[in-house]
Amino acid sequence: MEFEVTPWEVKGVVDYDKLIKEFGTAPLTEELLEKTKELTKSELPLYFRRKFFFSHRDYDLVLKDYEEGRGFFLYTGRGPSGPMHIGHIVPFFATKWLQEKFGVNLYIQITDDEKFLFKPNLTFEDTKRWAYENILDIIAVGFDPDKTFIFQDSEFTKIYEMAIPIAKKVTYSMARAVFGFNEQSKIGMIFYPAIQAAPTFFEKRRSLIPAAIDQDPYWRIQRDFAESLGYYKAAALHSKFVPGLISLGGKMSASKPETAIYLTDDPEEAGRKIWKYALTGGRATAKEQREKGGQPEKCVVFKWLEIFFEEDDKALLERYHACKNGELLCGECKRYLIGKVQNFLKEHQKKREEAKKLVEKFKYTGKL
Ligand code: SF4
Repeated sequence: MEFEVTPWEVKGVVDYDKLIKEFGTAPLTEELLEKTKELTKSELPLYFRRKFFFSHRDYDLVLKDYEEGRGFFLYTGRGPSGPMHIGHIVPFFATKWLQEKFGVNLYIQITDDEKFLFKPNLTFEDTKRWAYENILDIIAVGFDPDKTFIFQDSEFTKIYEMAIPIAKKVTYSMARAVFGFNEQSKIGMIFYPAIQAAPTFFEKRRSLIPAAIDQDPYWRIQRDFAESLGYYKAAALHSKFVPGLISLGGKMSASKPETAIYLTDDPEEAGRKIWKYALTGGRATAKEQREKGGQPEKCVVFKWLEIFFEEDDKALLERYHACKNGELLCGECKRYLIGKVQNFLKEHQKKREEAKKLVEKFKYTGKL
């Protein structure tokens, strides 16, 4: 096994082209990106320009629906089992861009019930506490309060009513194929896929889910039965993973704190972590690096700049060549990234404080 991607775990160095074939998704082509530019009358953000989002299901139909006036809506979510890190928040920024440019509604499901059911060591109180903390990070991204509905499963009881018709469609073996249930699985876990699929039916138009590709299996269940209930199959835009600090292959993981930068990390501490742990593509000595050049394609520092922290394409390309030519050393480069990360954290944490006053405005508990 070279690599494995499931909703619970990412192992090995992911080959994204192979994953498209394995999952049966479609590549996010230049043609679709051009169409996105045309319809939004905007330049693409770096997540799309640099192919961080690389795969989709039915995004072509989403664009067609938009163009022909049927519209669509966005749906995404967060499982509140701990603090959010940089890897969690990047897809939310891409979602924000989509909302802004297409002017559509966005539903954000906070699955406090799911995390309680699936994580043996978390209490229900824990997941509710993390739900509040995570909602602050999400609001801090800057979504449109009039078009964004954040709902927490345990509070938004209407979702149960919507899940019932779904629960009558999904067989145990369909759910088991995705979640891998066994004899010890709790009955709440088995019902849960119905709750997760319900928001794709919040509006009688197509839903678009922007998320990392490991989440794709969840929506396959929805796509199996949606049309039989008179709804659209969920469409998706899939991102790659933001790697953790110590390895380029996998994804940033909350279970390995030294590999992640949390959105609530003290900026000084975040800087120390990057300095100490970030993998570079540097050579053994400065002399060797000047002679042979560095290897940006093996470097987490460069990858983080590419994915999120260097907006300027020209600056990124210059950095690539300066590294390759041995004109740049890793210490200088790390300091540059640290500055970018610290500025981002300071800004985010300010907005996170302000978000405390906005929670009620964003939270959705009423009738649809
Ligand atoms: Fe990475 Fe920069 Fe070192 Fe090149 S110089 S390997 S881009 S940290």
